[in-house]
Amino acid sequence: MPISDHVATVVAEVRERIAAARERGGHGQDVTLIAVTKTHGPDAVMAAWHAGVHDVGENKVQEAESKRAQVTVPVRWHLVGHLQRNKAKNAAKFDLVHSLDSERLAVALNDAAGEAQRVLEVLVQVNVSGEGTKSGFALHELPAVSERLHACRHLRVRGVMTMAPFDADESVLRAVFRGARDARTKLQGAGFGAEWLSMGMSGDYEVAVEEGATHVRLGTVLFGSRT
Ligand SMILES: *Cc1c(COP(=O)(O)O)cnc(C)c1O
Repeated sequence: MPISDHVATVVAEVRERIAAARERGGHGQDVTLIAVTKTHGPDAVMAAWHAGVHDVGENKVQEAESKRAQVTVPVRWHLVGHLQRNKAKNAAKFDLVHSLDSERLAVALNDAAGEAQRVLEVLVQVNVSGEGTKSGFALHELPAVSERLHACRHLRVRGVMTMAPFDADESVLRAVFRGARDARTKLQGAGFGAEWLSMGMSGDYEVAVEEGATHVRLGTVLFGSRT
């Protein structure tokens, strides 16, 4: 089967699962499906586009740039992976940066967006489970972070991103996703629009949507495992 037919079939299935999870969860949110195309070629982006998925996620700026040069359709580009400060300039070209995970990165992104004379939309990444291997802010850091972000005139804080521990029990997943929701409430309380919740990957997106996810980031389920 050509890749585009396969992706279209899977996308239809995934959309049904998302709709059902949204019903069960009862949060009434809109859910954006982001096709994470990292390690796959531009044909994966095109296949997603032809399946009606207009949001694409990458975790490395360089890989995204070369792919972007080969893609002719106007997808929205999401940066979902950890970003080094010296790549902030390239990151400022994305439509949404999900991985704002340090105050220093916020300053670098703000500077880069200012130079490019644009406002960059960002999500604040939170590390709810406290796993040492995951980046992101702890919930108790958010008041200080909020103050710093208010001074970043070229950033627009649209919400929160989180990653759940891999292969965790459902109860753990739910606790993490609820923690991210609490983080969003905190940012809203601090005066940001912050309506979005980016959470849920191939293994846990249905639970994430039940818990209120507005953006799910799906790679493996759409394109197969990365080799
Ligand atoms: C790779 C990646 C995804 C997609 O993961 P799958 O399990 O393949 O769906 C989502 N979010 C981030 C941050 C990623 O790096």
